[in-house]
Amino acid sequence: MPVITLPDGSSRTYGQPVAAKKVAEDIGPGLAKSSVGCRINGVLRDLATVIDEDSQVRFVLEKPKGGAPDADALFLLRHSAAHVMAEAIQQIWPGVQLVYGPPTSDGFFYDIRFPEGASISSKDFEQIEKGMAAIVAANKPLTRYEMGDEAALAKLHNEGNKYKVDNAVRALEGKSAGAAMNPATRNHRLSFYATGEPGKDWEDLCMGPHVPSTGRIRAFKIMSLAASYWHGDEDSDRLTRVYGTAFFDPAALEEHLKRLEEARERDHRVIGKQLQLFLLDEMVGPGLILWTPAGAVVRQELQNFIAAELRKQGYLQVFTPHIGKLELYRTSGHFPYYADSQYPPFVERETLAKLSAERASCAELVNHLAAGDIEGYLLKPMNCPHHIRIFASRRYSYRDLPIRLAEFGTVYRWEQSGELSGMIRVRGFTQDDAHLFCTEDQVSAELNGCLSLVKTIFKTLHMTDYRVRVGLRAPDSSKYVGRPELWEKAEQACRQAAATLGIPSTDEPGEAAFYGPKIDFVVKDVIGREWQLGTIQVDYNLPERFDLGYVGSDNQLHRPVIIHRAPFGSMERFCGVLIEHFAGAFPVWLSPVQVMVMPISERHHEYAQGLAAELREHGVRVEVDSRNEKVNLKIREAQVQKIPYMLLVGDKEIQSGSVSVRTRKGGDQGSLPRGEFLAGVRQAIESRRIEP
Ligand SMILES: [Zn+2]
Ligand SMILES: [Zn+2]
Repeated sequence: MPVITLPDGSSRTYGQPVAAKKVAEDIGPGLAKSSVGCRINGVLRDLATVIDEDSQVRFVLEKPKGGAPDADALFLLRHSAAHVMAEAIQQIWPGVQLVYGPPTSDGFFYDIRFPEGASISSKDFEQIEKGMAAIVAANKPLTRYEMGDEAALAKLHNEGNKYKVDNAVRALEGKSAGAAMNPATRNHRLSFYATGEPGKDWEDLCMGPHVPSTGRIRAFKIMSLAASYWHGDEDSDRLTRVYGTAFFDPAALEEHLKRLEEARERDHRVIGKQLQLFLLDEMVGPGLILWTPAGAVVRQELQNFIAAELRKQGYLQVFTPHIGKLELYRTSGHFPYYADSQYPPFVERETLAKLSAERASCAELVNHLAAGDIEGYLLKPMNCPHHIRIFASRRYSYRDLPIRLAEFGTVYRWEQSGELSGMIRVRGFTQDDAHLFCTEDQVSAELNGCLSLVKTIFKTLHMTDYRVRVGLRAPDSSKYVGRPELWEKAEQACRQAAATLGIPSTDEPGEAAFYGPKIDFVVKDVIGREWQLGTIQVDYNLPERFDLGYVGSDNQLHRPVIIHRAPFGSMERFCGVLIEHFAGAFPVWLSPVQVMVMPISERHHEYAQGLAAELREHGVRVEVDSRNEKVNLKIREAQVQKIPYMLLVGDKEIQSGSVSVRTRKGGDQGSLPRGEFLAGVRQAIESRRIEP
């Protein structure tokens, strides 16, 4: 007699096993109609699942009240769409072998092995979509059936698809994602889903779950192709990954495609090239950013802005070198434990000469370095150890604390070449870093100071939509240094500080740094994408490792706490995000060129140069387009360069001592006396206004 308990606490009792669908119908026809699946005791299942024991049931609705799309519903829909796409593809190329087809955060894909000689291109998308449309129009049920493991494996062997056999074995061994959640594999059974009737229609080995029928997939699109490999292993079989997406209604798909198009137009790699903001150069090395003059202006302005804020908060500027001895990083714990994410260490010439005279092998060198019996250097992966040594060089008293040391410090990390992406994922980057050395009592006030700094920055740059993640230890992991009671305290401080922000925050176990918990800022840009930017970390551990102390009011030595913080995160990543956020149209104060003066003809050049000189004298970044070109062309090009102000000067302007003003957004603004224009630009710069 299963008792079904619903999210509102109410319950229904059945005399015999009952399908979830029947429960929905009993509650109301509206619920049954809009349900596409359910969670039974927390596990996502088909609506057709028969419930035979007391269970908590929550129905997954196509359109939940409040309208926000339900991630479960989209998961079911997209997983089902992957089946429909695979069927349509097999109709066109009967010889292809299906490998693996999961839903993703914004769609789905299927990895497919094409037979020798067959291939797919974007020209085939329309035909595949046609095939899918027919399957959707037929509104076929997605029907689950199960088989005992031996019979199922025999069936798959017979069908001759080694990939599916492998999937089945992995599922039975509990190795594939979700296998543990699948009630079938727990009982040495495998499940299949037929699109229609088992034994008669197309089917696929699959754990499910799915939407009840194909008619639910009302909007879908094949998006793109990519090369992939079996098990992601480049030495294994080469596969083709076909990407698609699906939504419950065409308007949502439209919206999604529009957002993707916008993202493409904002791509910082494209705009960065167009506006000559930065370079990646083969000869310099992958993931190493060259800031060209225009990009350097943006970075310098950001650095000036933050440096001024830091001075207000009592920070002290320091500079430290780009390398440090391995001993430093052995003490901090960065080496050798995080060697995989660092450039390899290097050793002094004499050491190298001695080792090579001894005919030491590379492996021996590596072992010596790891063991610490020879000394080497590391490109710094973090600024903290250097700052810590500055703090340790003096004996501070409690009256001196907090000591806040700040540096735009460049660090180097080893990222896989496949992970590198424009300015967002790089191998060398500059953090707007600082380390705050304080007493335990000062931790929460200092955290609040850091948070208010981050808020000021985001507000100035019109990044108003953000949330925070509090990164905590993963339960039972050994990667963390330090005593549990110190971790406890630090995690508590982070949670409390995050709570005072008054914005959404989530606890994220496993996201802590190895030496302490942290608060990460996740910013939503104008088109709704999320970026992880600034970070604040509380650290009770490095002070111990470096044996730091300050003299307390009791004249005894006490351990300070370190707060690590970088509001922008890295200048490279932050600028990359800013380029996309503003689509290259930076606010006036950040624009590499703020004003472009355009003389209408040759005889206006002198006036134009004089005007530019006057603006320059008042700190405005100005250029003169003195090419012998039509003014309309000059305007078009300045517009492409996203220059905030364009000044046209001709006879009329010279006579009246005025300028004709255009803005990149507002077009023609009419004419203004020179002095008035200058005052307006100065005001836009000083107030850090977004648009002129
Ligand atoms: Zn499936
Ligand atoms: Zn640090």
